[in-house]
Amino acid sequence: MNSNLILQELVEIMRCDNCKAHLRPPIYYCERNINLCESCKSSSEIKVISVNQKLENIGHLLKFPCYYAKFGCKNSILWSEATLHESECPFRQFECPACSSWKGTAENLKVHIQNNHKTIILSSGYNRLSLLQNERICFIMGVGEPYMVRYNCNTDSGLFWFVLKYIGPLENAKRRHYKLILMHEDSSYNERKQVEPAVDWKVDEGTAIKIDLCVLKTKLQLKNENVIEFKIEIHCRTPLYNGSVDEDLLHDVECPVCQDYMYAPIKQCIAGHSICNYCRPKLKVCPVCKQEMSDVRNFALESICSKMYYRCMYADDGCTFASLPKDIFKHEDTCEYGLLDCPLKAFIANCTWRGKLGEMSSHTLEEHGWKF
Ligand SMILES: [Zn+2]
Ligand SMILES: [Zn+2]
Ligand SMILES: [Zn+2]
Ligand SMILES: [Zn+2]
Ligand SMILES: [Zn+2]
Ligand SMILES: [Zn+2]
Ligand SMILES: [Zn+2]
Repeated sequence: MNSNLILQELVEIMRCDNCKAHLRPPIYYCERNINLCESCKSSSEIKVISVNQKLENIGHLLKFPCYYAKFGCKNSILWSEATLHESECPFRQFECPACSSWKGTAENLKVHIQNNHKTIILSSGYNRLSLLQNERICFIMGVGEPYMVRYNCNTDSGLFWFVLKYIGPLENAKRRHYKLILMHEDSSYNERKQVEPAVDWKVDEGTAIKIDLCVLKTKLQLKNENVIEFKIEIHCRTPLYNGSVDEDLLHDVECPVCQDYMYAPIKQCIAGHSICNYCRPKLKVCPVCKQEMSDVRNFALESICSKMYYRCMYADDGCTFASLPKDIFKHEDTCEYGLLDCPLKAFIANCTWRGKLGEMSSHTLEEHGWKF
């Protein structure tokens, strides 16, 4: 037998004895000579004897079909690559956050939203927001595609939180940020934030924009009004190459389909046109020359793209910091341009506090004994 066939057979054998899905570590060896996956182990009565280390050692050497194979993904991947691939897989399934009875790929979800949820797509200008309203899910169009918006005014906890999630791969979310502008008559308050990847539609209050409702009312000079206006601006980060802008180069690293900046793995057509990894599986022929697509990677371009620097999201406010995405997040959390001075600085000259709006009221209360 040819060795490839042996490997394929091995992959076939490595299934959970209960649900028949391909096994992934940890694999549980159980009584009656049964091997179970993690979820079947927790839900079944069968007694576990041990983790099947030997089977796991074999598994680490094999390439298994992607979890989304039944939806059309043709990739075979090592266990070590599975999490990354599946988070970026174009066949990954998303539930619709608005009706939750619908499921499909990110691309199809975007179409579904535009066809079925038109009434909850926000305007690109100002929208009304009631400070008495509870949790709300809606969508906003930005750079040609819908994003999920979720916010809540909780009068009990006195907190307003807001999140914006990208419908698609994590990598794309990283390269976008947004500005939320809250307004009432002549007063306004804005905050910038990184767009969140849609791991799911849940809200992690730790990464949301959080504003103390009392502080917000003071900022917007509200008396008894409870309706304000809000607007969202979504920005793609503009990359720089090693710190200096080169317009031609920026154009070369743009995917000809989605026009976003490419990242590894970048595959090409037989004539050498490069396509981003997200668009590639959706194409039968090259969108530029209509010739066949190949699986050959463009390592030179991948290397250039991996050295792309992105500007801090406060660049418009004067910040000149630029770096690789992983370092930018750390910087933005403490960027000087994103922080506010203590509101009592005019009266208490020696207060050097700078921080986020949401943390302001606890600062003034703890340090100055004054509550908004
Ligand atoms: Zn199972
Ligand atoms: Zn896949
Ligand atoms: Zn829906
Ligand atoms: Zn693309
Ligand atoms: Zn081509
Ligand atoms: Zn900055
Ligand atoms: Zn202070």
